[in-house]
Amino acid sequence: MHSTILALALTFAALALGVTPADAITIYPIDRAQILAGSRFDLKIEFDGVVGAADAKVTIDGADLSTALGRTATFVERENGVAASALILRDVTLAKPGRYAVVASDGKIVRSVSWEVYATGSRRARNVILFIGDGMAAAHRTAARILTAGITEGKYHGGLAMDAMTNMALLGTAGVDSIITDSANSASAYTTGHKSSVNALGVYADRTPDTLDDPRVETLTSLVKRAANMAVGVVTNTEVEDATPAAMVAHTRRRSDYDPIVGMFHDSGVDVLMGGGAAHFLPKSAPGSRRKDDVDYVAKFRAAGYSIVTTDRELKSATADPATRKLLGLFHPSNMDGVLDRKFLKQGTVTSFPEQPDLVDMVKTALAVLSRHDNGFVLMVESGLIDKYSHPLDWERAVMDTIMLDRAVAAAKEFVATRNDTLILVTADHTHGLSLAGTVDDAVKSPEMRDKVGVYEKAGFPNYPPANDEGYPPRLDVSRRLAIFFSVFPDYYETFRPKLDGPFVPAVVGPDKSYIANDKYKDTPGAVLRVGNLPRSAPQGVHSGEDVVLTATGPGADRVRGFLDNTEVFRIIVDALGLGAPAAQ
Ligand SMILES: [Zn+2]
Repeated sequence: MHSTILALALTFAALALGVTPADAITIYPIDRAQILAGSRFDLKIEFDGVVGAADAKVTIDGADLSTALGRTATFVERENGVAASALILRDVTLAKPGRYAVVASDGKIVRSVSWEVYATGSRRARNVILFIGDGMAAAHRTAARILTAGITEGKYHGGLAMDAMTNMALLGTAGVDSIITDSANSASAYTTGHKSSVNALGVYADRTPDTLDDPRVETLTSLVKRAANMAVGVVTNTEVEDATPAAMVAHTRRRSDYDPIVGMFHDSGVDVLMGGGAAHFLPKSAPGSRRKDDVDYVAKFRAAGYSIVTTDRELKSATADPATRKLLGLFHPSNMDGVLDRKFLKQGTVTSFPEQPDLVDMVKTALAVLSRHDNGFVLMVESGLIDKYSHPLDWERAVMDTIMLDRAVAAAKEFVATRNDTLILVTADHTHGLSLAGTVDDAVKSPEMRDKVGVYEKAGFPNYPPANDEGYPPRLDVSRRLAIFFSVFPDYYETFRPKLDGPFVPAVVGPDKSYIANDKYKDTPGAVLRVGNLPRSAPQGVHSGEDVVLTATGPGADRVRGFLDNTEVFRIIVDALGLGAPAAQ
């Protein structure tokens, strides 16, 4: 083929595939964005260089931008930190469902994207409860089911509350920038219906260095408050300003913008907010504060009518008061302690913070307070330490917190049992690479622990004692325990045993700043060095890109089947709540 014709053919092929050359114009929302009719979003066009104001043109379905959206975009000749021009139009809406062709030009290059604006049916659910097991993979679920229900002759003696639901689907978790997601852009997909990039919440990540100026998309919290005057609750056992809970309210390109995120929670009008992370609510002059300014957000929340609680006892007495309609519970300066340390080992920070409530109690009290509101509620619940224990390859702690998530789901199912008006969704935001390979049997005689790993018929069944009345096995260091191994890791010593002296620290910084196996576990009898398969800059394991499981029950759950993209979770929620019904706009 003649080279010019070949080049042309390649260009057309690239256009057909939606591939854009490096010097193209960028349009936000992105190509193939799905936008809820009537929801707010910012439109941004980034030109590759400095262009003349008269040359920068955008049309929507052939009509000039100001005609199509009712307002004129702001032209920025040179964006801060970028020697290039942009057009920005904030807080626009498209009310009419359908496909929209957006075409931008700088006088030389033309770029076009297509958006789908969708409506919803009328409201079918009064309430929605979204549970997120952060980082929860299939192996966490299976291990939780084995430990909580027990299994003999291949049959479980019971099951998980999150399994016993009418509908199930697999969710894809990839983001705008990568096949691997973090908790920010994945939770943001659930709460906005838009894909985003690693570390970004409620925005499309633009090119400017300012993390708070990126083009925004509306959060579920804003939508349900604006369109339906509903109550909103956010419950986690991590810091409340951490990525997953923050996705309910935040707009930032950088999830670590903790101080601004606390302000966004305050401004959002969220009715119930519970978890750790108190350090970013306190003015910097206060002991233990991690704020960079002197704003006292505890005082600001109190002034806005919130009951403030910091212990389990205070939580229960505030909830018992029927006048409590707004509740801020901050039970830890940082992340709360997980089940194994809090309930069994009394380790971690439990001696300093002995009155941390359980996630199950937080969910029960959130449901009680949110039920006092007249127009229904949306509650997001995160069991966040499943992820935080899976990063350092501490699967036992992660599985105990998976059981805790399941007990919280059971409490929610009990709450909705007598009423068919609440959609419950249970999912993860991404997975970790861990697998159940069999059992580790101490009865096998060998100095090497790897010889005790039983696979296939030699795995048999583990001998954990039956779960207590809260669903937890009272002992994990049994003689035939689950053999669960991670697939991505730094150099570390595999001990084949639960870490009862504190959460696992697989690797530590070595003399040349790269991570090396933590010597602390070297002399554990039978420990083997696993040479890492991650860059030496990685201190611990990482997220993986497999699908996550979504189960659901209640009005609207019928759409949960087959394979869905993570943005569909938002669509299922807004559809159940009728937020894009013609009457709702
Ligand atoms: Zn993580």
